[in-house]
Amino acid sequence: MRITRHGAHLVQLTRYPAVFPMNCYLVLEDDGLTLVDSTMSSPAADVAAEAQNLRLELRRIALTHAHGDHIGGVAGARERFPGVEISIGEREARLLAGDKTLDKEEPQTPVKGWFMKVEWRPDRLLKPGDRVGSLEVVAAAGHTPGQVAFLDVRDRSLIAGDAMQTRGGIAVSGRVVPLFPFPALATWHKPSALATAETLRRLDPARLAVGHGDVLEAPAEAMDRAIESARRAFA
Ligand SMILES: [Zn+2]
Repeated sequence: MRITRHGAHLVQLTRYPAVFPMNCYLVLEDDGLTLVDSTMSSPAADVAAEAQNLRLELRRIALTHAHGDHIGGVAGARERFPGVEISIGEREARLLAGDKTLDKEEPQTPVKGWFMKVEWRPDRLLKPGDRVGSLEVVAAAGHTPGQVAFLDVRDRSLIAGDAMQTRGGIAVSGRVVPLFPFPALATWHKPSALATAETLRRLDPARLAVGHGDVLEAPAEAMDRAIESARRAFA
């Protein structure tokens, strides 16, 4: 995988960077590492090498959402690093367990995208406002009903999952980017995705890290542009 460092606390690992980029991230903490997402297959070898470089141990895996290209690597990572705590949003855990039913108060639109059956269960269910190390859990529904984003409170790096993409140009989840349409095609409810992008923008992140595409430094202006474009496209 391609490995890129961003600031003091964030390492990006990218599978298939040239053709079909899928990111996961290592977040450096005083007590070890948190892996955010996992790509579609095990990142364990790269995580182990990076952990050795950094002289830190993997402690936690935190998942933004239940799509296969984000959770597929968890089984392998769990095997290589037994005892790591695996967490995912409380609402999203139902999708992870194969339950695609919607709550009464949710938009009654079918959930989309690739889900896979997994043999493991999360150890911890996250609610907005919870913390995973230095990461604050932020509700980020729209791409899926229970996606969460993670804001590093130390330097305001935002790991946004598929709430936005930067591959092929920055876009709010649900707006089709011709060069990389896949996140949009897997998006559940576009108006919710737009509301989430607005919420994430109001967090004033210093750095935007997404599931698909490069990390953006000082992303405010680019996020504004993406939100404006989504408002027009979804109207
Ligand atoms: Zn996704």
